[in-house]
Amino acid sequence: MSRHFNYLAIGGGSGGIASANRASTYGQSCAIIEAKYLGGTCVNVGCVPKKAMWFAGQIADAFKYAEDYGFSADVKPLDWSKLVASREAYIKRIHGSYDRVLAKNDIAVINGYARFIDANTVEVNGERITADHITVATGGAPITPDIPGAEHGIDSDGFFALQQQPKRVAVVGAGYIAVELAGVMHALGSDTHLLVRKEKPLRQFDDMLSDTLVELMAQDGPTLHNHCEVKIVDKQADGSLVLTLSNGNSLEVDCLIWAIGRAPATDDINIESTGVALDKQGYITTDKFQNTNVNGIYAVGDNTGRAELTPVAVAAGRQLAERLFNNKPDAHLNYELIPTVMFSHPPIGTIGLTEQEAEKQHGKDNLKIYRSEFTAMYTALTQHRQITRIKLICAGDNEKIVGLHIIGYGADEMLQGFAVAIKMGATKADFDSCVAIHPTSAEEIVTLR
Ligand code: FAD
Ligand code: NDP
Repeated sequence: MSRHFNYLAIGGGSGGIASANRASTYGQSCAIIEAKYLGGTCVNVGCVPKKAMWFAGQIADAFKYAEDYGFSADVKPLDWSKLVASREAYIKRIHGSYDRVLAKNDIAVINGYARFIDANTVEVNGERITADHITVATGGAPITPDIPGAEHGIDSDGFFALQQQPKRVAVVGAGYIAVELAGVMHALGSDTHLLVRKEKPLRQFDDMLSDTLVELMAQDGPTLHNHCEVKIVDKQADGSLVLTLSNGNSLEVDCLIWAIGRAPATDDINIESTGVALDKQGYITTDKFQNTNVNGIYAVGDNTGRAELTPVAVAAGRQLAERLFNNKPDAHLNYELIPTVMFSHPPIGTIGLTEQEAEKQHGKDNLKIYRSEFTAMYTALTQHRQITRIKLICAGDNEKIVGLHIIGYGADEMLQGFAVAIKMGATKADFDSCVAIHPTSAEEIVTLR
């Protein structure tokens, strides 16, 4: 059996679905091959369930503030099963909505694991599928370290499969996932330890953000262990785990979460048969148009190793379809100035250059840095006062904004609008000319001096 399509996406995650949906609007016959669940990482084991858990953490935080706002709430322990059930029901509704939209767009959804036969052909469930255009949108998967007992830990996929709330948790890693999951588990009441191998988490972000997060973690957050690596994991008879640490200490926990990065899912798709070039880490090499080195094969999303974020995979996929099928030969995603939010406690919103990067790029003397620090009003009425910090980095005589970094209550919802302005080339004077909205945290960004 074989079928032919104009456009085929291997992987029904953020990039694959977005590109096929857009291609179908231009009359192309389209198919998506998905090995697991439509929606990919983001919907099933990424952004969506993570944000649900983060919201649960926000609610737990609100109970702390409630008393000073005059509520005497008698809070029972978290019903983890209820939270997981609500979260998964929500994800099921998203699956339903994908099914409806893809069916409406007449896109064939093939459930199975695809492998290339050659540059125009893939095989799935014993069937050969050919296509004029094939996009590899296979995403990535979590990595685990090669140490004795590593298999006793879980990764972020395993975190979303937890049926019970672990009382004691160790999260290993220093990036988005480690910080977010450690923050959630602490907020939900688990005794949580964040183990980073260097001096602090989020080293690649502006120092103001990572340093403030560390400061706030010390006040109310997971216990941070820096310069700390796990050497051995021993599972005890009662199921608990004893971690032998590089600093000579040991730590006993009920759950160990590895969050030390992800690898592209390109190692088991027989991509060699196509001649598509990969880099040393297995990422697919693409140009700005998402072209690989092989005519008719493209790649979008996490497996290209550029800004591993859902809206990036979606935008790259849509631009690709615009270029291929809507007569827009120059359509491509501009990877510069991508705003991003870390759903930490409190959240972080960031776009553009860090101060260090800006110094390198523009020279220290050509920069003007504006800073603000205040207590978020939401918390200011309570005993749990929480700092917000903002840094605006401007370059050149006209003070063009090249970086904006925010950590504090509401930062997650603050950034998007400012990102539009910055992407349009806003200067400090443009921000100053906008009347503030009072009383908000965001108003500080247009009143910086
Ligand atoms: P994916 O969404 O991973 O989709 C790839 C799909 O391909 C998968 O469904 C997989 O099953 C399928 N597949 C793989 N190989 C094959 C094959 N051979 N045949 C058939 N199917 C195959 N990003 C954000 O922007 N905001 C967030 O808050 C956020 N939170 C995250 C939290 C976590 C815990 C994680 C892990 C990621 C998070 N991300 C977030 C990142 C985001 O999920 C990814 O950037 C995004 O999903 C990438 O989309 P993609 O299409 O490249 O790959
Ligand atoms: P990241 O690449 O963000 O971070 C992993 C970090 O773990 C490394 O930077 C490194 O930091 C540390 N690390 C690496 N190896 C080891 C090791 N052997 N032992 C201990 N620590 C180690 O990966 P994540 O898995 O956190 O996230 C993957 C991507 O998913 C992110 O980059 C992001 O693009 C996306 N994502 C986005 C989210 C969002 O938008 N809110 C949320 C979650 C994920 P160091 O060198 O400092 O030790």
